[in-house]
Amino acid sequence: MNPDRVLEDLRELARLTGGPDGARRVCWTDEWTKAREFLRSRLDELPVEVSVDPAGNLWALMQGEGDGFVIVGSHVDSVPAGGWLDGALGIFTAVEALRSQAENGTPPVALRLVDWADEEGARFGRSLFGSSACAGTLEIDEVRDLRDRDGERLEDVVARYDVELDRVHESGEELRGARAYIEMHIEQGPVLESRGEPAATVLGTCGVERHAAVFTGQAAHAGATPMELRRDSFAATAQAALAIREIGLAHEGGVCTVGGATSEPGVVTAVAGRTEMLLDQRHLDPGELAAMLAEARSACEQAAADHGCEVELRHLWSIPPIPFDDRLIGFAKNAVAEAGGKDTAIPSGPLHDAAEMARLIPTVMIFSSSSPPVSHTKEEDTPEADLRVAIDAYGRTVEAMLASAAAGDLPPRA
Ligand SMILES: [Zn+2]
Repeated sequence: MNPDRVLEDLRELARLTGGPDGARRVCWTDEWTKAREFLRSRLDELPVEVSVDPAGNLWALMQGEGDGFVIVGSHVDSVPAGGWLDGALGIFTAVEALRSQAENGTPPVALRLVDWADEEGARFGRSLFGSSACAGTLEIDEVRDLRDRDGERLEDVVARYDVELDRVHESGEELRGARAYIEMHIEQGPVLESRGEPAATVLGTCGVERHAAVFTGQAAHAGATPMELRRDSFAATAQAALAIREIGLAHEGGVCTVGGATSEPGVVTAVAGRTEMLLDQRHLDPGELAAMLAEARSACEQAAADHGCEVELRHLWSIPPIPFDDRLIGFAKNAVAEAGGKDTAIPSGPLHDAAEMARLIPTVMIFSSSSPPVSHTKEEDTPEADLRVAIDAYGRTVEAMLASAAAGDLPPRA
């Protein structure tokens, strides 16, 4: 692997589809097409066959000696005004994996690059479009009528890119023969930066529980109602929010976020009669996640009781934790350590296309650090030295995966 070539490609992509306001490769737009044309121009230099599947995912196949293939992938799309590395790092590191294999002859089994369509969901609000279609988890009727800001329907817009919505699950055929999947991504958070580590292996994506806790008390005059006679839904919410913060601190590896609360009537002269609080909880361990939710529920009930209120938890959305493959995690940990990092492995709070693949085939991810530790903004960045370690580690992991496949492990998917 030659990290210089990855950095060169990333800078060229940023020049073509970025600028002072950040990346603008929103899926299903002309800028996204331009990013894909650039990707194709790089793939055209390699001995690969390029195709686009019924969900709009772009594939490049490099033949190998044995049966089946290892998949290297990520996404070239971005959020509006996004960063130069989110998604693109994974794609151009994958291109470099193909390039370095081609320079060394024929790989022991085939390698396939995939650029997933619409990972970000920036236009219609549905993330992981292409990878979930491929994995068979996309509910077609739930996305058909999603509309963008201009009122255009998802089904109509994707049709302009030759994606017939009712056929997107045919993309799953692409996984016939797949042995394993690897994706590189920036961490998008502060963990590696805070530890001074350039890169790390990813254990899986955290499960998520999202709820709205609705506290109901009694709206009342702020002057006429003595403190002890109030049923203050805002006070109950505040108590619950602080208790939930403690729950997050008590469960190692877990996070609990009260992202906001809205009170009614919401005026300075009234006790709040109704307050709706937004709660997001994440953990890699399903038991811990369930325990955090149960504790949050009782914290809300206790807070409601203490303030003469009632509370109801409304389920908004959830997804179980999706662990990656132990053997591949082992390969990646060794590789990061050999490349100059440590054998650290951390969970991913954000979801990734890799989570969809992990449902079906052995999967692993490598994170580079993020510094500043932000993403989905033009400030997103990673020190070049850290990128070099991550790229090197990725190449070593791909080598280990190919060797394992050649030795008869990681069987091709039927
Ligand atoms: Zn991403």
